[in-house]
Amino acid sequence: MRQRAGRQGASRSAADYLSSERYLQALTGGEVGRAAVLYPNSYAVGMSSLATHTLWRLLAEAGWQTHRAFLDPEPGHSLETGWPLSSYHLLACTCSFELDYLHLAALLEAGGIPPLRRERSAEAPLLIAGGPGVTANPLPLATLFDLIFLGEVEEVWPRLAAALRQAPHSRVAALEAAAEVPGILRPDQLPSAPLPRQRLREVDAYPTASVALTPKAQFSDMFLVEIGRGCPHTCRFCLAREIFSPFRPRSEPVLLRTIRPALEATRRVGLVGAALSDHPRLLELCETLVAEGAQLSTSSLRVDKLQPQLLELLASSGARSVTLAPEAGTEKLRASLGKRFTDEQVLAAAEAAQAVGLRGLKLYFMLGLPEETEADRAAIGQLMAEIHCRAPRLRLEAALSPLVPKPHTPWAEHQMAPVAKMRAWQSAVQRDLRRQGVRVTVGSARWALVQAAFSRGGEELGPVLVAAARRGGSLPAVRAALKEAGLRLEDYLAPPAEAPWKIVDLGA
Ligand code: SF4
Repeated sequence: MRQRAGRQGASRSAADYLSSERYLQALTGGEVGRAAVLYPNSYAVGMSSLATHTLWRLLAEAGWQTHRAFLDPEPGHSLETGWPLSSYHLLACTCSFELDYLHLAALLEAGGIPPLRRERSAEAPLLIAGGPGVTANPLPLATLFDLIFLGEVEEVWPRLAAALRQAPHSRVAALEAAAEVPGILRPDQLPSAPLPRQRLREVDAYPTASVALTPKAQFSDMFLVEIGRGCPHTCRFCLAREIFSPFRPRSEPVLLRTIRPALEATRRVGLVGAALSDHPRLLELCETLVAEGAQLSTSSLRVDKLQPQLLELLASSGARSVTLAPEAGTEKLRASLGKRFTDEQVLAAAEAAQAVGLRGLKLYFMLGLPEETEADRAAIGQLMAEIHCRAPRLRLEAALSPLVPKPHTPWAEHQMAPVAKMRAWQSAVQRDLRRQGVRVTVGSARWALVQAAFSRGGEELGPVLVAAARRGGSLPAVRAALKEAGLRLEDYLAPPAEAPWKIVDLGA
């Protein structure tokens, strides 16, 4: 899972978006009250998130008249009707990325809702949040939301839905009933013991897939389907592994039953999951889908699990490139972060990609890892040069991201490098790669530090988020808002003395 920062998507009207959507499920509802799903980024990003589709479906099936709200076309107003967010009874927000917290505060304000809970009246909508970022550490958003859900909602949804039904009549009754639901945190009554996150035990009983298709999503007209939850690997930086454990692949028959009806509407199928390459029936699933005319896309694949037949299938179904995530340039550093595959395996994967006719190879690397040395950074360029020698027809691309230590991971307590140092490291590796003709994208060192603050900070950040959003949400705005609160961004380079995320028991 990779962080996407900032707002993305061109400016369009609501009519443009709505007229281009094709619905795969009829979503009715309306007798309970008015609800909006908030995704605090653009329509294009939000409609590429399965969390948006899932919340939309769950609320509509529970009887809510359900609309969606993104940063565009009109911030703070629903896509379907243009109503301000303040006119809803329930706002359900899914926050996948910490930097979107700034957008969230702006979106609430634009919708006529004071973002801080203490400033809202009893007539305000009930605000509930969920998603990986808030499950890992709910405290940065604790002063904004009425309720925060920790973990995977599917199995407790009937209980939570029953509690939330009371919101249009009595906010207090809804809050009290919801607080009894497993996984619910009431931020105005923080628990004294860690609250366990909820997990889905029967993944086959709850398929997770797109509700609608649109050419205006990042994954244009693509049917997204989650083929499993969790990951069996133990990469030391990885939050997804902690949040979504244990590894639970969905069965092939269930996946085929989910995907086949969608093939009548689109040939484009995106297979989603933290550990795609570990799915025990991935090859068979892909073979069947390609034989039935699907054009497959996948997120990044594990180097040590890459089967040439899988690459062949992806190429034959129209894929042009593949993404791998070696993360580090040397085997030693890779092993220390939990990816024990060799340079030779990376090179063999590149050769295999070229052999099946793929044109591009993208590789993810991180900088600022514990134990990382100058030699490790220089090795990224050497590895890319060797890849070019062994697979010269591939167009190579590298993404260099600063490590952002995430709560609950073994590296949660890692001291981040100062921004100037990180930028110097990035520039050196970037120069080396550019000399070789590799296309390079570099993650902002300064925004990585903001992300670290929002990941491992505490309740002090709620008013900071609101003040920064009011100033436009830029980096200077974040710095100014922190300063007003007596804080500095650099304070978050080091882990907090008392980890705020200990309020959550991930049970990983
Ligand atoms: S392979 Fe590693 S980085 Fe990828 S999801 Fe699993 S633990 Fe995370």
